[in-house]
Amino acid sequence: MNAPTKKPAPQITALTQPFWDAASKGELRMQKCQSCGHIRFPIGPVCTACLSDKSDWVRMSGRGTVLSHLVFHRAYSPAWKDHVPYSVVMVQLPEGPRMFTDIVDLERKYIDQDLVGRTVEVLFDTVEGDVAVPRFKVAEP
Ligand SMILES: [Zn+2]
Repeated sequence: MNAPTKKPAPQITALTQPFWDAASKGELRMQKCQSCGHIRFPIGPVCTACLSDKSDWVRMSGRGTVLSHLVFHRAYSPAWKDHVPYSVVMVQLPEGPRMFTDIVDLERKYIDQDLVGRTVEVLFDTVEGDVAVPRFKVAEP
């Protein structure tokens, strides 16, 4: 297998900076509304449940369950050309939010398996600019 290629960095804004700061420390944090407790993701300026603009960045467990799964056989960016095929999943976090992610599976152990219902756990991958991006791997039983 070829050496991994660094993926493009996300565009970081003042609003998303706390998310990326936490990721650089190996923590998955999301906004929890100070008014109603709703945890929102994607990151936003106001609560999608009550419109409050007050929130705290709280740490998620880092685990979740796969809701849907598909395999990309084509690289839509040159940075991914050495990685096809790879799994892309929607993860349901126990705290409420859902995230799209790819599955880190360097040995291609899970590429032919249906991952729906499997437990996954977050890890952080360094991309261009040394930004840590959350990705997921299948949790071993
Ligand atoms: Zn709220």
